[in-house]
Amino acid sequence: MHPRDLSSHSAYVPGRGVEEVARDLGLDPDDLIKLSSNENPHGASPDAVAAIRDHADGISVYPKASHTDLTARIAERWDVDDEQVWLSPGADGSIDYLSRAMLEPDDEILVPDPGFAYYGMSARYHHGEVNTYPVSAEDDFAQTAEGVLDSYAGERMVYVTSPHNPTGSVMGLDEIRTLADATAPETLVVVDEAYGEFAELDSAVRLLDDRDDVAVLRTFSKAYGLAGLRVGYAVVPTAWGDAYARVNTPFAASEIACRAALAALDDDDHVSNSIDTARWAREYIAAELDAHTYDSAGNFVLADVGDAERVAEAAQRNGVIVRDCSSFGLPSCVRISTGTREGTKVAVERLNETLAELELGVHA
Ligand code: PMP
Repeated sequence: MHPRDLSSHSAYVPGRGVEEVARDLGLDPDDLIKLSSNENPHGASPDAVAAIRDHADGISVYPKASHTDLTARIAERWDVDDEQVWLSPGADGSIDYLSRAMLEPDDEILVPDPGFAYYGMSARYHHGEVNTYPVSAEDDFAQTAEGVLDSYAGERMVYVTSPHNPTGSVMGLDEIRTLADATAPETLVVVDEAYGEFAELDSAVRLLDDRDDVAVLRTFSKAYGLAGLRVGYAVVPTAWGDAYARVNTPFAASEIACRAALAALDDDDHVSNSIDTARWAREYIAAELDAHTYDSAGNFVLADVGDAERVAEAAQRNGVIVRDCSSFGLPSCVRISTGTREGTKVAVERLNETLAELELGVHA
């Protein structure tokens, strides 16, 4: 007995966790600052945590009402129909739902390189093929319609990540509109706004008012601090919103996830505080880190440190976990998630010490 041929499938490489690193290095987990997975350093909204406790007794039933309520609440927030909101286990789940809804075997998708690995993984699970368009350091990772269209060959889906992981660059609404206008009517442009709250940019959801070839991904994992719960969604055009019923895994988001997300949506203070901290911290990192950094609209900063593997490893010993971007095809860069104000300051200090020890980086 064997699984199907998975040799063209790459494994997802997550950022390393605190316990794992502490155990490996014989360190106290409390001494480590984890800035490797773009998580919310403020944690979840206290209201979300309270909602989880309040609804703990309800987990023996399928999440019917909470699922419907969360869908309606998100639809109201974006001023779209309920059918346009596809709840999923994380935005990752929405990527799968869109693959299921769009891809016939051998259909192709176009994704950014470097970029978020799961787009290609999901397409391959669904018997699709993956092509890439470059997002290059020479252009400061700028994202334009033209840059995507140069590589476009009629693919069924085109992914745009804005803000882009791992670089932090964005694609403005006009460029996305130009891209969607220039691609074939049966090409879906998926705008991944997993980090959308941190950017000072209009969401692409408004494009859905008058077109049927754009979908937008959003998540509760980042600004809302619910990464551990796995809840996200896609906003899709009215024209084919009803496909959800045919492609979703039943009860896509759990009872607890839905209850927590409902509470988190009402905690404006927590979200705005999270956004303010990320915006402050990305500026702080850019100003104070002794390495070249790229402008970021996300809750992370890409830094060119010369040798990502060495720096990420040495930084861990100095108490900071950052993301080695070799697996993104950027072996000289690390991605540093934004921490709390205090945590970010300490992390930058430790990273600068690390760079000095290794004689890497740009020293003042
Ligand atoms: N898109 C991008 C660009 C991401 O970086 C991530 C998380 N790392 C996701 C989507 C998925 O997020 P989640 O499944 O936690 O909602």
